[in-house]
Amino acid sequence: LNKKKDSDNTPNEETNTEESTEHFSPAEASLLQKIIRKGLVENKNNIEIQRQDPNSPLYSVKTFEALHLKPNLLKGIYEMGFNAPSKIQETALPTLLANPPQNLIAQSQSGTGKTAAFVLAMLSRVNPELHYPQVLCLSPTYELAIQTGEVAAHMSKFCPEIEIKFAVRGEEMPRGAKVNEHIIIGTPGKVLDWGTKYNSFDLSKINVFVLDEADVMIAQQGHQDQCIRIHKRLNEKCQMMFFSATYDQEVIEFAEVIVPNPLIVRLKREEESLDNIEQYYVKCANKQDKYNAVTNIYGTVGVGQAIIFCHTRRTASWLAEKMTKDGHAVAVLTGDLTVEQRIAVLDRFRNGQEKVLITTNVLSRGIDVEQVTIVVNFDLPLDVNGRADCETYLHRIGRTGRFGKRGIAINLIDSPEAMTICQTIEKHFNRKIKFLNAEDSDEIE
Ligand code: ADP
Repeated sequence: LNKKKDSDNTPNEETNTEESTEHFSPAEASLLQKIIRKGLVENKNNIEIQRQDPNSPLYSVKTFEALHLKPNLLKGIYEMGFNAPSKIQETALPTLLANPPQNLIAQSQSGTGKTAAFVLAMLSRVNPELHYPQVLCLSPTYELAIQTGEVAAHMSKFCPEIEIKFAVRGEEMPRGAKVNEHIIIGTPGKVLDWGTKYNSFDLSKINVFVLDEADVMIAQQGHQDQCIRIHKRLNEKCQMMFFSATYDQEVIEFAEVIVPNPLIVRLKREEESLDNIEQYYVKCANKQDKYNAVTNIYGTVGVGQAIIFCHTRRTASWLAEKMTKDGHAVAVLTGDLTVEQRIAVLDRFRNGQEKVLITTNVLSRGIDVEQVTIVVNFDLPLDVNGRADCETYLHRIGRTGRFGKRGIAINLIDSPEAMTICQTIEKHFNRKIKFLNAEDSDEIE
């Protein structure tokens, strides 16, 4: 993994207090979501389907058996704990496995089963008797390629004859040497090198081309062009599979270059809401007083876990240090950590090794930890102009329908300005934020 500290354009806190604007890059956010997720993200919306020829039959399956997979692949799927196809898989899988092959574009939010779908298709399409690459999967980064490879290794546990090669940084092919593995999973630069400069494999013999995380690919400098250059060398019968979490104009234009005559399946993201969330505010005199409130609340969190949001890294570190000194096990996630450190922190928190995660806005979006019952805004979210950032508030606190469980949100207020922000948020969502006496946190319902 990348050992060097990534430059995230975050201004130095010593010189700039607007540091709460720190964000993960799309590639990092996507990776962290994969790491922290435990299972499928439920989504109550309906699948939308677009196709060139509305008369051509459209299949959908409710079971994995109905796909007539190789028995050892089916075994691998059950081994992974999958019982039935996810919503997007119900429609995507019959298309991906159809004969003659059909091209597919699938868009759905992270966690809905896209990777599992194309990995299954990749494994099914391999002829293990032919010792050259037949399937090519492009991922935007080293880490995402490795993640996909791990899913493939897991799913093909009972198919040892299928071999996978990573085309990523650190993997070298001597000039003249050939890739004998059936599947290549890699990043565009390396794949382009191997496929064109070094002739390590024959791009025209690829039968299945997967483009994963197309939206993240676009966000990575130069990747889109490299993908297109790779794509030009494929044969015209090659099956194209294109996946993205979002589908804006740029992604659509990219898809049109890569995928002729596609079936397009889309699953809209479920909106977050504050419906099952009890919201409170606590009046505090100053930062120390906020700290006392946190420890009081912490004392009441019997089961489950808490995430605490701070405005700056400095406050996050201050709070973490104090809590640690008081003997609490806390995790800290801020933008100055390396990718591995972030993964390690989230892994430990997800496994319950720490009950409290202290973070800045880097974690506000899209990261779901199911067991988190309490979210504390040590500082309320502000936009760049210092006004209430309602959207970020919703991302921090809100849940989609997947959590039947209730959640609690606690806002710490230490100034009249903070009170005004809190009231703005209350009005914006038209949901009551109740007063809570922190001395007496038994009041929490
Ligand atoms: P995406 O690629 O859309 O982010 P993944 O394929 O990574 O989604 O799936 C998200 C999570 O759900 C993973 O933990 C995966 O193992 C799990 N998963 C995928 N498909 C199924 C299924 N049919 N049943 C149960 N779990 C599944």
